[in-house]
Amino acid sequence: MNFLARIVRFLFWLLVLSWGLRLLRRIVGGMLRNDTAPGPQAAEASIDTPTAARRLVRDPVCGMHVDETRSIPFRDGGELVHFCSTACRDAYAVNSKKLAANG
Ligand SMILES: [Zn+2]
Repeated sequence: MNFLARIVRFLFWLLVLSWGLRLLRRIVGGMLRNDTAPGPQAAEASIDTPTAARRLVRDPVCGMHVDETRSIPFRDGGELVHFCSTACRDAYAVNSKKLAANG
């Protein structure tokens, strides 16, 4: 009987220990997750913004690639074209007008 009681006690402590370890791991994991959570989110946000801003569009006049946010948009018929400068836009507008007049 004494032997059986020892086994039961051993199993009980084993259970308590494993439960305690699991709880501890969950607490530590939660703490780590809370600490790292703002990091990746902030990194994602800071990565998303430049990639969205860095969408390049091609200037059909000089062939330069321009930041879409910094480009000069011009609606040519149903097509939206982007230019590096107003000079390029004006040149394109004049050419398209000429083409329209010729055609
Ligand atoms: Zn240009």
